[in-house]
Amino acid sequence: MALETASITVLGATGSIGTSTLGVLARHPERFRVRALTGHRNVMLLAQQCQRFAPELAVVADAASAAQLRSLLGGFGTEVLHGAEGLEQAAGAGADITVAAIVGSAGLRPTLRAVRGGGRILLANKESLVMAGALFMDAVAASDALLLPVDSEHNAVFQCLPGNFSRTRLVDSGVVRVVLTASGGPFRQSSTAELEGVTPDQACAHPNWSMGRKISVDSATLMNKGLEVIEASWLFGVAPEALEVVIHPQSIVHSFVEYRDGSMLAHLANPDMRVPIAHALGWPDRLASGVGPLDLVGLGRLDFSAPDTQRFPCLGLAYQVLRAGGTAPAVLNAANEEAVAAFLQERLAFTAIPAVIERTLAREPLQAVTGVDDIMAVDAAARVRATAVIREMAGIAL
Ligand code: NAD
Ligand code: MG
Repeated sequence: MALETASITVLGATGSIGTSTLGVLARHPERFRVRALTGHRNVMLLAQQCQRFAPELAVVADAASAAQLRSLLGGFGTEVLHGAEGLEQAAGAGADITVAAIVGSAGLRPTLRAVRGGGRILLANKESLVMAGALFMDAVAASDALLLPVDSEHNAVFQCLPGNFSRTRLVDSGVVRVVLTASGGPFRQSSTAELEGVTPDQACAHPNWSMGRKISVDSATLMNKGLEVIEASWLFGVAPEALEVVIHPQSIVHSFVEYRDGSMLAHLANPDMRVPIAHALGWPDRLASGVGPLDLVGLGRLDFSAPDTQRFPCLGLAYQVLRAGGTAPAVLNAANEEAVAAFLQERLAFTAIPAVIERTLAREPLQAVTGVDDIMAVDAAARVRATAVIREMAGIAL
């Protein structure tokens, strides 16, 4: 029997996750056809992707980028839109599958729009769950969307949970603990003194994964794992007490689920995002991803150790805001995005990133979350606050 083709929209097609997604799709032209691609300011790459995948719609940041893309595409039949309305249209294009792979808080509205439209949502944009977890999961419950995690740890947890698990009653499945693995990043063995002088390029040179610059810095500070703890708590309904992090420098085990009988299930794969992307695209089928098999004997050993929260305070901050609830995670996320941007522009020392977040959290009032407009207002206010803190600190730290 011939397979039906699924239509697919990739929000953030020109990024690391976006290009890996298109790499998997290219292997299965009979299964997928691309409906919309968004690329913000990377017009050249988006033009090549449009020529290769012939989407109905392409979206860029602004009118100037749109004009550039139209001229690159010539008479090609892809409609080009721009800005927030363009993103909204792409997210609401009614694709069978939407890949949410925009980086940062900019992903929240389009991802929520896709969730409200139903269909299968492949979530890479963890920041949207961190900022608006309750709202986001309510939107998923209220629509007929199927949310599948692409983040490798969460995809691993999903694969280790029973097929019929319920996020509101995970304990009924016998789950007692979820353990997320972390590589430890490029500075796993660096002293605090060494951390003070690290450069953006050193922070972005991840030992196992090739990723966008923002998430690479998050991996180096362990904030990425902190954001993932919050992400896991929303996705799977796990309490902070039942969520642990272990350092696993080889990045081969992507996470563990422990059951009450003492069994611990793990998911292993080479560290390549095409594995979780292919899993979520094909589920419950298994699609070839292009990633080779694990060489267990070649690997020889797998190491695990406890994270050092003294040298990497961001992980502790993430647990703190998860317990505090309300707008605290949105404030943490906004302050982190501002601090990481300042570090990447060499306006802030690496070791000042957690201090900026801590001071911003201390100065922003904790509020209850009522809606997405609220969250975006909290995000904006926290950025103003964080920017002021960065200015105060820049003089001292650099
Ligand atoms: P990236 O920087 O490589 O790509 C980001 C994408 O978002 C690009 O297509 C870019 O054009 C677009 N974009 C950037 N700013 C935008 C804005 N303001 N409005 C609209 N679009 C915008 O990032 P990435 O590494 O692919 O990460 C994407 C998301 O996936 C992040 O949330 C990240 O945490 C998550 N994630 C990434 C990886 C990975 O291996 N790269 C793994 C797990 C989760
Ligand atoms: Mg991850």
